[in-house]
Amino acid sequence: MSKPTFELATIIKDYRSAFEQTCTPLKQNIRVLNAIAHCRTAYMGGHVDKCNNSSCNHVRISYNSCRNRHCPKCQTIDRERWIQGRQRDLLPSTYFHVVFTIPQELNIYCINHPKEMYNILFAASKATIETFGNDAKHLGAQMGMVSVLHTWGQNLSLHPHVHMIVPGLGITPAGYWKQAKSQGKFLFPIKAMSIVYKNKFMEKLKQFLERVNQPMAVQLRKKLYNLNWVVYAKQPFAGPEQVIEYLGRYSHKIAISNHRIKAIGEGKVSFSYKDYASGGQQKIMTLDAPEFIRRFCLHILPPKFMKIRHYGFLASRVKPKLRMQQMQMGVIIQNTATLNWKEITKTKLNFDIEACPCCKTGKMIRILSFEANAPPILYLAQQKINKL
Ligand SMILES: [Zn+2]
Ligand SMILES: [Zn+2]
Repeated sequence: MSKPTFELATIIKDYRSAFEQTCTPLKQNIRVLNAIAHCRTAYMGGHVDKCNNSSCNHVRISYNSCRNRHCPKCQTIDRERWIQGRQRDLLPSTYFHVVFTIPQELNIYCINHPKEMYNILFAASKATIETFGNDAKHLGAQMGMVSVLHTWGQNLSLHPHVHMIVPGLGITPAGYWKQAKSQGKFLFPIKAMSIVYKNKFMEKLKQFLERVNQPMAVQLRKKLYNLNWVVYAKQPFAGPEQVIEYLGRYSHKIAISNHRIKAIGEGKVSFSYKDYASGGQQKIMTLDAPEFIRRFCLHILPPKFMKIRHYGFLASRVKPKLRMQQMQMGVIIQNTATLNWKEITKTKLNFDIEACPCCKTGKMIRILSFEANAPPILYLAQQKINKL
C-alpha cells in the first residue's frame, strides 16, 4: 500500500488545543493522543544504522514507534503475530460470521461506562452462541469463538458491535468433533438468537446498573425490550484461508486509517466513508477538526481492555486440548515458528529493514540508540565529516 498523504498525527498536532477548548478529555485519551502525535518522531527516541559496505557507509536514523493500539501506524506487527497464532488454530470446517450490536439507545451508557458495557456485549454474545451450541436440538457440543470488538460506524460515530467468528462444529462431552447440521447462512436461527441475546444483555445490564445504583428508567427498559436487537449473520467464510484473510484485515483495525483521511486544513478534516444507506457508495465527510478528534476519542478503549477474546475450545487456556482435537481430525499444524518483527516486515511488508537502501548490497548495522528528544545531530555531523 502506498504511503498515505494525510495522517491522524497531523490532525492531533494541529487541532488538539482547539479540541481541548471544547471539552476536558479523559487522561487516558490524552495519553493516546500524545502517543499518536509523537509516533516515529524525535520525541520518541530512536537509533542510527550504518551500512557495513565500506564504500557506501550510508547512515539512517529511525525513530521509535509508539506501539499504541489506537495508532494507525503501529498495528502491523501485533496483527501479524496474532494471525500466526490463529493460523495454528484452524480447523477443516465452515466458519460462520455473526455480528452482535448494542442498540444506539444505550450509547450514553457506553460513553460513561465503556469497560462494563463492552464486557456485557462480549459476555452476552458469547452466552448466546453457547446456549444454542450446548442445546442438543441444535448441536449439543462445546463451541469455539473468536470475538473482535469494533466501536465505530463508518462516519466515526459510536456504534459498538462484536464480530464473532465461529467454526461450524463443536466438541462433544465424550471428546469427539460434531459438525453442525446447518447448511444455511448461519448455524442457528437468527431471530431466536437475537431474542436470547437481548435477554442476556438486558439481564447483565440490569445487574450492573443495580450495582452502581443507577436503575434504568422504566420507559427506556420497555423501549429496549420492544426493540428488535440486531444480530446479523454475514456470509459464512468459504474456507479457513478466508477466515485468516478477514482477521488480517479487521482484527487490529482502528476507528480510522490514515488512508481514509483525504484533506486537513482551515479547521476541517475530510475523510472517506462507505454510505451503506446508498448501497455502500464511497463518500466524503467533512467535519470540524475538534469534532473529528472528539469522535476519534469515542473509540479509545479503557487501558488494558481486551478487544479480542477467544472462547470455548479456542480459549488460550485450553490450547493443549485443542491441539489433541486437531490431531484427531488429521490437521497438520504448520508454521509453528514465531516470526520476529524483522522477519514480519520482510515477508509481510516486503521491506527488508536490514538491507541498505543506498548500495543495495550492504547490511544496515545498529551503531547507536538514542533516548527521547535526543536526535544525534552532532553525531551525524561527525559522521559526515568522517565520510568526506
Ligand atoms: Zn504509533
Ligand atoms: Zn550501503
